[in-house]
Amino acid sequence: MPYKEEYLDESVIRNPEISELVLEVSEKVLEEEIPPRMIIYASDGVNESHVDEDRVYFSTRDFEKLDRTAGLGLVAHEIAHVCLKHGINKEPKMADEKEADSLATRWGFKEEIEKLRKEFPLK
Ligand SMILES: [Zn+2]
Repeated sequence: MPYKEEYLDESVIRNPEISELVLEVSEKVLEEEIPPRMIIYASDGVNESHVDEDRVYFSTRDFEKLDRTAGLGLVAHEIAHVCLKHGINKEPKMADEKEADSLATRWGFKEEIEKLRKEFPLK
């Protein structure tokens, strides 16, 4: 996806650390893979990063625990979830987690996903 500000909520624009990671991931994603109404948020108020329909919520607390490589893996993983329309599933499924990791790996974030899984193993 070519980087588009319309995908970013103010909360991400105000968070240079997260917006920089989103920019890097966005360069690898094709425009047609992205739901047209995707919006990305960053919040101190959510316990963990997640997706809800076409919205991605990044918890700033997650990024305090991760180095840049694993953080990039997390951003790619969550964006992969919306591209795969997992945000409409209300029950978290292990298969969805693996599928999101596979798509992020296909975008070129293999090392980043491996590092992420050392910090945040799939359970
Ligand atoms: Zn996930």
